[in-house]
Amino acid sequence: MTENLKLLAVLAHPDDESMGVGGALAKYAAEGVETRLVCATRGERGWFGPEEANPGFARLAEIRTQELDAAGKVLGLKEINFLNYVDGDLDRAHPEDVIGKIVAHIRRIKPQVVVTFSHDGNYGHPDHIAISQFTHAAILCAADTTFNDPEERSPHRVSKLYYVVDSEEMAMVLKKYLGDIEFFVDGQARGESPWKDWMITTRVDLSSAWKTAWDAILCHRSQLPSIAPLLDLAEDEVRRLLTLQGTFYRAYSLVNGGRERETDLFEGLR
Ligand SMILES: [Zn+2]
Repeated sequence: MTENLKLLAVLAHPDDESMGVGGALAKYAAEGVETRLVCATRGERGWFGPEEANPGFARLAEIRTQELDAAGKVLGLKEINFLNYVDGDLDRAHPEDVIGKIVAHIRRIKPQVVVTFSHDGNYGHPDHIAISQFTHAAILCAADTTFNDPEERSPHRVSKLYYVVDSEEMAMVLKKYLGDIEFFVDGQARGESPWKDWMITTRVDLSSAWKTAWDAILCHRSQLPSIAPLLDLAEDEVRRLLTLQGTFYRAYSLVNGGRERETDLFEGLR
């Protein structure tokens, strides 16, 4: 009885949905769950080619929107919505403005389960951290009868919120193929921040979905230079990497709890 189950991913950039949550989105869509995405930016700063070939913000936004549309079809997403903030500037957006927009989507879609980035942005990306914070606030406000969203919709209470997290094993495999992810924000180095095994509340079996996730990743052609070493991997290695994508942290749940590890984001709701 998976009818009417709804999963909403709220993320920052085109490709986050495939590289971060592709397996779970594909798996649940294949089971008949309605899966949707709210993407905060169009990724116009994500250029990995030679600088002289950079098509510029407006064109790159178009290219990445098309890539996301293609990936969304592969993953079986029912709907993709952009919030149209500028890539890289999300943490400077006006909170009430962003939160109001996410609230309007939550109230319209009425998902039982929402997935976003963890508070560490998985590897410290400021946009990922920002969308995580905004999504938390939006879930609170969506249920609050006194909060008015721009579309004046009626309240909706989300039952479960998840972070997509990278396990230590995932971080190890990524490091093996891609080396250390390191970049500087405000003069401090940031990088992959893996979650210990005991912190992971939920492990979703992606053995039937990893290939769809990989096909979706490959739709993001403009981003493939950033993961070039993965393109040469044997299928077995891609499978190993992408089945490791199924790790989540249950940030809260109104319907279940405890230490026993879940295997389903909808546990307690079916
Ligand atoms: Zn991202």
